[in-house]
Amino acid sequence: MSLAERLARPEVLALAPFDLGPRHGDPFGAETIKLDANENPFPPLGAPGVNRYPEPQPAGLRAAMAALYGVAPEQFLVTRGGDDAIDLLCRTFLRPGEDAVAVCVPTFSAYAHFARLQGARVIEARLEHDFAFNAEGVLAAVQRETNLKLLFVCSPNNPTGTPVDPVDVLRVAEALPDTLVVLDEAYLEFGTAPSLVAEVTQRENLIVLKTLSKAFGLAGARIGGLVGPAELIAMVGRAAPPYPLPTLCIDAAVAALSPARRAVHEERIAQIVAERERLAPLLATSPMVKRVHPSAGNFLFLEVEDAAALAERLQRLCIRVRFRDNAAPGGVRLTVGTRQENDAALRAFEVPAPALPRSRRAEVVRDTRETKIAVAVDLDRAEPRRIDTGLPFFDHMLDQVAAHGGFSLVLSCEGDHQIDAHHSVEDCAIALGSALGQALGERRGIGRFGFALPMDETEAQVLIDLSGRPFSRFDGEFAASHVGAYPTEMTPHVFRSLADSLRAAIHVRVQGENDHHKVEACFKAFGRALRPALAIEGRGDALPSTKGVL
Ligand code: PMP
Repeated sequence: MSLAERLARPEVLALAPFDLGPRHGDPFGAETIKLDANENPFPPLGAPGVNRYPEPQPAGLRAAMAALYGVAPEQFLVTRGGDDAIDLLCRTFLRPGEDAVAVCVPTFSAYAHFARLQGARVIEARLEHDFAFNAEGVLAAVQRETNLKLLFVCSPNNPTGTPVDPVDVLRVAEALPDTLVVLDEAYLEFGTAPSLVAEVTQRENLIVLKTLSKAFGLAGARIGGLVGPAELIAMVGRAAPPYPLPTLCIDAAVAALSPARRAVHEERIAQIVAERERLAPLLATSPMVKRVHPSAGNFLFLEVEDAAALAERLQRLCIRVRFRDNAAPGGVRLTVGTRQENDAALRAFEVPAPALPRSRRAEVVRDTRETKIAVAVDLDRAEPRRIDTGLPFFDHMLDQVAAHGGFSLVLSCEGDHQIDAHHSVEDCAIALGSALGQALGERRGIGRFGFALPMDETEAQVLIDLSGRPFSRFDGEFAASHVGAYPTEMTPHVFRSLADSLRAAIHVRVQGENDHHKVEACFKAFGRALRPALAIEGRGDALPSTKGVL
């Protein structure tokens, strides 16, 4: 008998799966007349497809999440967020009045909540005084238990932020072969510890919990899952309702996981981590804070002098945090937000923080049948610059624009390169122009104009006016049809696309001998011309136009 069969409740073992007719790989195909599920033939206005029930385990999302975590689809179960995964585990394995779970407190309350709801006993093993996980201490706390079905370990731990050494998790799993060790990696992406998903295929009694709520910003879509041995995954799936995942949420998650968006997601995580590291030492100087615990999550755990006074003060300032007295006296969990939100939090903790002007960051997603593009720009930071258009030479050109323009640019594109480079080059230019335009907002305070001149044997002149009115002029010719895979004829087209989507006048003039130089000089000069045009001047709130609008 497998571990899944030995651990599952007899009721779950006896359950016949829901009869939902042909599922994935529908033998009737797309033209099927669907009269089997008592659905309404008319979709709701504005939401095509939503009149039909979703797939019980949506194959596309399951495959995308399995690939994200590096496992096979049958080793992954998509759930309605991590909360649902915890509930399903409890309902699959815990016999009311007989079985027990262990939790390592202080930790996420849902483990004990769903276990109790299922009528199971909850054994609490305490973390060390600094919230470190002690494998021997945990094993000692559960040693007398004969029906210990589940042991939850959270790394990094909520609410303390403490990571658990993977070696300790494996030590516990080895010592308890008849218990399923559930490793909750909800916040893993914000730390440096490696995931244990690869271990799941090596052993029977380890299961890893994942969520798209945190790293992918999908809390409202409720998408998470479990990585585990295929038999365990199938067993837990039996406890799920027939159609647990709403179509709109499936679509949002599939879109979020598209390779073109990966770089922007990674950059957001890096930003949150950088903000956490900025906040921690600053909060430690607050007269209200006794201690800031090191954290590997997207939050910080603080111990404060007077939690009641702080609660009252934060309420007045409309800032919500979680008070966690059960984790430590005066315990407060503060989520890392945007730079502006974090600065407001610092001021609430009486730490001086500048009231920054509006962030000049923008993200644009542009998905068509020809290209899928995600781009993030931040006009007030020079880094990072990560560009992947699928065309190395064009990457190099956009890198020149950002480097010489003095702004951060993360851009990736999945394009129809099997046709040619045209759509990718054009659409990247449109998306970049839109992102720059959005980041500029009302265009208050900017220099507005930009000029740039000669480079080597080539002369490239770019004049810019971020006027709000699109206009483009390109004077120059290329002898070669391509530089690398990049078609030189796209160069005027790129500046035209940028002028349209950025709503700017862009005049480019180039002459010289070498086409590589000439193309590159245009992009470099464009970056150089953008730099003063994007920069904030003087007091920074004036509109650089006598019209009063740009
Ligand atoms: N695990 C931990 C440790 C959490 O903190 C949370 C949510 N706060 C979850 C799992 C569940 O997240 P979700 O249901 O949004 O996926």
